[in-house]
Amino acid sequence: MADCIFCKIINGEAPAKKVYEDEYCVAFHDISPQMPVHIVVAAKRHVASILEFKEEDKEFVGGIQLAIANIARELGITENGFRVINNCGKDALQTVPHLHYHILAGGKMGAKIV
Ligand code: 5GP
Ligand code: ZN
Repeated sequence: MADCIFCKIINGEAPAKKVYEDEYCVAFHDISPQMPVHIVVAAKRHVASILEFKEEDKEFVGGIQLAIANIARELGITENGFRVINNCGKDALQTVPHLHYHILAGGKMGAKIV
């Protein structure tokens, strides 16, 4: 999508500190980190949110989940733990309408709300 910042990062048209890439996703450091480790894992397909996935996308969805685990291992954050977040829609304060997950780590986080 032409004016989507994450599409631009995925296509190499905008800069980002990439840490991982496979056929399903690209992961890079968040420009405004909320924790010492804050990685954005963006789907390599422009969909606004998980709501757009269909039955036939199961492999793609699962591929991203496995990638998140691999990224966590590569970053060395599995021992102390990490948080994976997907903001979906306006009440969740999603700001970039291109499906992505946040990986947060590197310190004790606030209380869970779910
Ligand atoms: P959301 O609020 O949609 O769940 O998360 C979007 C995230 O993308 C935010 O944490 C924001 O800091 C990050 N972000 C927005 N624009 C850029 C950018 O151009 N580069 C990088 N690396 N991160 C971005
Ligand atoms: Zn996009």
